[in-house]
Amino acid sequence: MNSEPLLDQIVRQIEGAQRILIFSHVRPDGDAVGSALGLMWLLRARGKAAELSFEDPVPMTLRFLPGAEEIENRPLDGHDLILAVDGSDAERYGAHFSAARVSGVLVICIDHHKTNTRFAALNWVDGRYAATAEMLYHLARHAGWSIDERAAHCLATGCVTDTNAFSTGHTTPEVLETVADLTRHGAALSTIIYYTMHLRTQADAMLWGRVLSTLRVERGVAWALNRLADRQEVGAQEEDGGGLVTFLVDIIGVNVAILFNEVDGQTTRLSMRSAGGYDVSNLALAFGGGGHAQAAGATLNLPLEEAVARVIPQAAAIARASTPAH
Ligand code: 5GP
Ligand code: MN
Repeated sequence: MNSEPLLDQIVRQIEGAQRILIFSHVRPDGDAVGSALGLMWLLRARGKAAELSFEDPVPMTLRFLPGAEEIENRPLDGHDLILAVDGSDAERYGAHFSAARVSGVLVICIDHHKTNTRFAALNWVDGRYAATAEMLYHLARHAGWSIDERAAHCLATGCVTDTNAFSTGHTTPEVLETVADLTRHGAALSTIIYYTMHLRTQADAMLWGRVLSTLRVERGVAWALNRLADRQEVGAQEEDGGGLVTFLVDIIGVNVAILFNEVDGQTTRLSMRSAGGYDVSNLALAFGGGGHAQAAGATLNLPLEEAVARVIPQAAAIARASTPAH
């Protein structure tokens, strides 16, 4: 992947900075947390003062990562470089980022979403990478930085979660080689997979039952409702229900799966997955969101039932019209 001049530029900016603030996206997932923390440990090993800013808290199942307890919703405050990782547009990084990006401090974005809007002054965006964490591994190798055990553990986590434990179509030989090398540097793969893929709260398991009882499958589309009242009754959080939409897209005959998450009476968050050859990223973009061909999302200012009525006909068109590549 021929991005050497850009990587040189990024390395130069990082080496010239002293206090670096790293942002990642709202509702952080394994690649957001793993990339930001991995980068923090890489930079600290270079003698930099690196801090993290996330608008939303770290999910329970990612708190095993070293440094997770340092993640805060913090503003720019005397930092001389801003790094934004794994979010495809400026809005995804939250309010402190919106303020920070107009401060005059240089912003560099490193991201693997093909829907990335190139909102930063320097953008290293490459949709061929399976995870942003994989890009950061290559940045470290390119720069000749040492990768300590903590950085390795965090970066491997991003690669594991964004490939759904090496099961998605974008699980390339390169990402497998990256993770193999990260395990040589101290990443503990079995621990990562246990925490990110298997561990769940009792409330989460109860929520699965509620959500699956709303399942509908029609015209190649599977969808289900994650209702606020159900979450309240079982004591689940909005972050619970992870993995549900992936479960839905695995139903035989389903090409598009959508989980409708009721945020409040006027807001519904879509979480979408598609089978190989079917692309949900444009549907997400059309509703103001983004993502990848096989995993995308958006937030709609519509009540749950209205969101379903708006989205399902378009999802059905995608599930019907596309020609699967494999
Ligand atoms: P998830 O369904 O796991 O929440 O999200 C799947 C993918 O879609 C992730 O790559 C995530 O970054 C992207 N995504 C989800 N919601 C949004 C959104 O509101 N805006 C953008 N730009 N991307 C989103
Ligand atoms: Mn990612």
